[in-house]
Amino acid sequence: MAPPAPAPPANSPHTATVAGVPVDTRHWIGGRRVPSASGATFTDHSPLDGTPLAEIARGGADDARAAVAAAREAFPAWAATAPAERARLLHAVADGVQARIEDLAVVETADNGALLRSHRRGVMPRVVHNLRYFADRLLALSHDDFVTRGHTHHVSWDPAGPAVLITPWNAPLMLASWKIAPALAAGNTVVLKPAEWTPLTASLFAGIAHEAGLPAGVLNVLQGYGPEAGAPLVADPGVRRISFTGSVPTARRIAAAAAGHLVPCSFELGGKSPLLVFADADPELAADLAVEQYDNAGQVCLAATRILVEESARDAFLGHFLDRVRKLTPGDPRDEATDVGPAIHPRHVERVDGFVRRALDAGAKAVTGGGRNHALGGNHYLPTLLTDVAQDSEIVQEEVFGPVLTLQTFPDGDEDEAVRLADDTRFGLAATLVTGDRERARRVAARLVAGTVWVNCFFVRDLSAPFGGSRESGIGREGGDWSFDFYCDLKNTVTAPEGWARHG
Ligand code: NAD
Repeated sequence: MAPPAPAPPANSPHTATVAGVPVDTRHWIGGRRVPSASGATFTDHSPLDGTPLAEIARGGADDARAAVAAAREAFPAWAATAPAERARLLHAVADGVQARIEDLAVVETADNGALLRSHRRGVMPRVVHNLRYFADRLLALSHDDFVTRGHTHHVSWDPAGPAVLITPWNAPLMLASWKIAPALAAGNTVVLKPAEWTPLTASLFAGIAHEAGLPAGVLNVLQGYGPEAGAPLVADPGVRRISFTGSVPTARRIAAAAAGHLVPCSFELGGKSPLLVFADADPELAADLAVEQYDNAGQVCLAATRILVEESARDAFLGHFLDRVRKLTPGDPRDEATDVGPAIHPRHVERVDGFVRRALDAGAKAVTGGGRNHALGGNHYLPTLLTDVAQDSEIVQEEVFGPVLTLQTFPDGDEDEAVRLADDTRFGLAATLVTGDRERARRVAARLVAGTVWVNCFFVRDLSAPFGGSRESGIGREGGDWSFDFYCDLKNTVTAPEGWARHG
């Protein structure tokens, strides 16, 4: 993703005021703000109007090495810290985030363009919840001993070592905290590499964690581009876990690097999830759920972007859907009334538009939208629904990651065909089905290939549930104790009975 940007002068200021909030944009390594070893920075722009927000430390191999070294140095003491104390510190960090929700929300909106009201009321409170949940879950982990043939087996959840966490730009701090919380709770130290398009809230979070009392080196934040800062991190022999959320091509590169040291990876990747609407569904509910897919300008990995409707329900569904689309308010994400904000970056808008133009050239029809929102300009893209699309076409098979849905039908009463179309991509992140028949829901859900299936609902995510994708949507599951499975090395200690002698 790194453009060939000229390196700014070594003495670039590393502090910025974004939406009235001061942010120090150097790396956070070993409990200190440090510039890049090279002195280089890059410019972070706002998706709201393209204005430069801040100069960010541009990490490279030397900085990555320093960040992993700091995490390694801090690891033994943090791993040996009593779980109750680790949990207390995570709750203290959660308190710090809670106190700064407004600052974090306004900065995140300036940086990634998602709705301010959802950052204030949904996303940042969820960051707090992520931290508290895994702090509490740590204390509830089972350490039950069991005895076989007189020998006691003690299973312990040992921290694995320094973990590298790499996150995308669509939900920056939410996704970072969903990894940081279980990694730290488990007793690992962390190097976080936030996405280069949204570096700011990670810098704020580092300061909050420090003020809450997190020891130096336990959490490190390395800023920079993927190929320059992320690549050396994931290849570092000192790293024992890699948790990555992002695109499939990047996951392949990370997996190849991790193979060098056999480092376990958790991958949460892209999707092309179906929304199945059966003729027995409540059409209002089906339309509500379909329009929800435009949230965050469609930049949601879980978005159900392929609408599959039973033939006889098509017209009713479409009528309700278009009614709702007409009521959507595109605009400035800082306004309470806005429903659809801008996409993240001009290059991303170009990519989204490329998918749509190629689909239209291939014969698709735009029932609504179909291009940029010229009235608003900038990164605004019209909520789009395309019909007349072939199952094997690019627009049906590839993740667009924008406000672009397709509509296909399946023959009345043909559940097999509905499932065949739903499952016919290389992804398997999620699936949503809308039906009034609970027996059908059970039957169809059992046949779908997806990490999460929602029936008559969407985006309900409980932290106790496993989360992840099948096929090319990911490897592994996080959430609940599955997170601890990943971040820990389970150890079984077998102790002989008192007075037992092997030959006695
Ligand atoms: P991306 O893969 O381009 O980048 C993600 C992160 O990887 C960034 O921090 C980037 O700097 C870093 N990176 C890039 N190259 C790297 C390398 N060689 N080594 C190490 N790190 C490197 O993805 P993106 O465009 O930022 O995010 C969009 C993608 O993320 C979409 O495919 C979306 O579906 C996916 N996503 C998945 C989930 C999920 O939970 N499954 C959630 C959100 C987003």
